[in-house]
Amino acid sequence: MNKAGTNLMQTYQRLPLAFVRGKGAWLWDDKGNAYLDALSGIAVVALGHGNDVLADALGDQARNLIHTSNLYRIPLQEELGRKLCGLSGMSSAFFCNSGAEANEAAIKIARRYGHGKKVRVPSIMVTEGSFHGRTMATLTATGNRKAHAGFEPLVTGFKRVPYNDLDAVSQLAESDPDIVAVLVEPIQGEGGVNIPDKNYLAGLRDHCDRRGWLLMVDEIQTGMGRTGKWFAFQHEGIQPDVVTVAKALGNGVPVGACLGADTVRGLLTAGSHGTTFGGSPFACRAALTVVGEIERNDLVNRAGELGTRILRDLSNRLASDQRIRSIRGMGLMIALEFDKPCPDLVSLCLNQRLLINVTAGNVVRLLPPLVLDDEEANLLVDRLVAAIRVYS
Ligand SMILES: *Cc1c(COP(=O)(O)O)cnc(C)c1O
Repeated sequence: MNKAGTNLMQTYQRLPLAFVRGKGAWLWDDKGNAYLDALSGIAVVALGHGNDVLADALGDQARNLIHTSNLYRIPLQEELGRKLCGLSGMSSAFFCNSGAEANEAAIKIARRYGHGKKVRVPSIMVTEGSFHGRTMATLTATGNRKAHAGFEPLVTGFKRVPYNDLDAVSQLAESDPDIVAVLVEPIQGEGGVNIPDKNYLAGLRDHCDRRGWLLMVDEIQTGMGRTGKWFAFQHEGIQPDVVTVAKALGNGVPVGACLGADTVRGLLTAGSHGTTFGGSPFACRAALTVVGEIERNDLVNRAGELGTRILRDLSNRLASDQRIRSIRGMGLMIALEFDKPCPDLVSLCLNQRLLINVTAGNVVRLLPPLVLDDEEANLLVDRLVAAIRVYS
């Protein structure tokens, strides 16, 4: 017998921990220890683990119909498209299976749009510190040299500017007539929970309007209520041309969507894009149930309120800690930035039976499920503060 895991490609640095069961914000390992989940499988299980309503819907759907094909009409896909367009103010949807695929669709839309305008080499403006996925095009769009290393040649047609810098956008616009779209996260997740200045997105919207570019907002991590609005762009009162979602959309059932406004209607045509699994009855039933449960339990407002409270409590309790550069967040997307790399905080939190993540080297990221109750929120703060107190 091989050692456990040796038949897996070593693409992840896994913690020596295996969960076998979950309920709400709690996970149990194979030794029976309970952990408070403040990461949600990286912003995925917004409704928590072992959700009964979702389980019942999925059981019912699995018995009835899992997959047909996009060769046929799929009523649940039509219903989900209608629902997501209603929530986002978009007008059409393409369904796929992941975040990277949703962004691939967005990139293809931008290229078709550019060719329609007779731009010779349609290019997409992307930002430093961004994360858009691991396929070749989304990897290229990602603003992290380490993610690119060894995978060259990358895809052409991307131009990079610093994040949260509208002057840089103006400068690139002056020098590069090939730009046709901007692809941007409203808050950079993997890049360190970087929250741009108020009006950054509105400023980008303005650039796009003046120059005829598409504004494409990657809401894969921020979407589905996490920041206290259904979509983070809604905090700025703007409407993008393209919105991508995935992560929380299926609460762990793989489903992603690329949503388009009227400005991109008709660019993707029959035969020009597609996927075998995308938008299956099963995936769409999952997403419709997730949206329904978020609505029924008012979890979008809950995320906003609870986030404000956790942020205030952490700020109060850790105010005197000189190693912490900033405590910031929006809704239940919360970060503590340290003055130096802090990878050890992951295992110190494990000792407290708390699951967190460190991203961008020195940023503790909290993405708890939206169903967290008040008591669990207090426990989250207590355990995190305890881990930070013993951290040296
Ligand atoms: C996770 C993430 C992606 C990639 O999603 P996958 O489902 O892993 O392909 C893209 N963009 C953002 C902002 C993300 O957080």
